[in-house]
Amino acid sequence: MAAQTVASASTDSAFGPASALSCRECGERFPLEPLFACEACFGPLEVAYDLPSGDPETLRKRIESGPNNIWRYAPLLPVPADVASKPNLNPGFTKLVKADNLARELGVTGGLHIKDDSGNPTHSFKDRVVAIALEAARTFGLTTLSCSSTGNLAGAVGAAAARAGFRSCVFIPHDLEEGKVVMAAVYGGELVGIEGTYDDVNRFCSELIGDPIGEGWGFVNVNLRPYYGEGSKTLAYEICEQLGWRLPDNIVIPIASGSQLTKIDKGLRELIELGLVEEKPYRVYGAQAEGCSPVSTAFKAGHDVVRPQKPNTIAKSLAIGNPADGPYVLDIARRTGGAVEDVTDEQVVDAIKLLARTEGIFAETAGGVTVGVLRKLIETGQLDPAGETVVLNTGDGLKTLDAVAPTSRPTAAIRPSLDAFRAAGLAG
Ligand SMILES: *Cc1c(COP(=O)(O)O)cnc(C)c1O
Repeated sequence: MAAQTVASASTDSAFGPASALSCRECGERFPLEPLFACEACFGPLEVAYDLPSGDPETLRKRIESGPNNIWRYAPLLPVPADVASKPNLNPGFTKLVKADNLARELGVTGGLHIKDDSGNPTHSFKDRVVAIALEAARTFGLTTLSCSSTGNLAGAVGAAAARAGFRSCVFIPHDLEEGKVVMAAVYGGELVGIEGTYDDVNRFCSELIGDPIGEGWGFVNVNLRPYYGEGSKTLAYEICEQLGWRLPDNIVIPIASGSQLTKIDKGLRELIELGLVEEKPYRVYGAQAEGCSPVSTAFKAGHDVVRPQKPNTIAKSLAIGNPADGPYVLDIARRTGGAVEDVTDEQVVDAIKLLARTEGIFAETAGGVTVGVLRKLIETGQLDPAGETVVLNTGDGLKTLDAVAPTSRPTAAIRPSLDAFRAAGLAG
């Protein structure tokens, strides 16, 4: 890819190895600016690179000697080489947990790992994407950081803006979980609840960008979306590095807009292209909640087009009824031999509790979706349990307490006496 331009790759550029924005539909190239749609065909733009050439061993050593956060992968991201010295929340390098107890319970024999992104600064994977978008906003001289959010993104933008000295003004559907609302408000920026679904919020933000009000605004997932998306590649890099520079056989990823899934696949392909991992087939599986399953519905029906839905699920962080990257997710699941599945809200709750009970990890509803879907994929023979499997937990259960609160209560409430404890039948 673009081998002829490697020599021109500049190491002191504000965008590091990134060379252009390119249209995912027609391939037309544009300069690295706050653009998100192709002027020729309106297709979505993504960051194109002159990736480092040369000995993979040297690159691997350079990465391994970097900081314990996403900036260790700066040579593969659209950020300046000195990015680690700028005020940012420095997310990433979260734990990859070998989940032997859960594997036993689900019958996975090839090795099962949880990539636990609840360990990020604002307790969701969104800190990764915001970190990259924020650097682009800094370079473009934008002064207000903004987003349309299903909850986690609002908190991640608020926190990153606070640390980096940006004004922030973020937009959410008015009926989100208390934990998400408080997390988004506490960092001191403006938080606006919109009466409507996420898709309404997103449409409103597109209008704002087109209006003079929006001048100087960086909407991380709208006009900065090409940069934002690249943050998800770091999940692919970390998983492979933490496995000892190997690809897994199967990877189970939640789908909201589908950006994360498509960029993890992009990251895996880059690692192969760079010779950092040995090439082998891997299968990408997408996970949705039944109450918002436009992509899995299209997958199962064999359609290429994703029909929008009106979301109704407890997995609110994934409740995007009209996912921008839906068709690309379908392509990737089909190309890699994976699948897209969905689970009911009841199965989401069961899966949250299963993961907590077996591995001591308390996931938010999105993690219940991925673990629940993993179970369903195995039960229906769609995922080979003899393969090495990675499942993502992208958020923290403390943000979605409502999902499990009704069924997670004290075993007993007693007077502080041994007699009372014995009478409760808990003496063992
Ligand atoms: C945003 C989000 C995702 C995935 O979002 P995409 O739009 O598909 O990239 C997954 N999990 C959680 C917890 C999220 O907040």
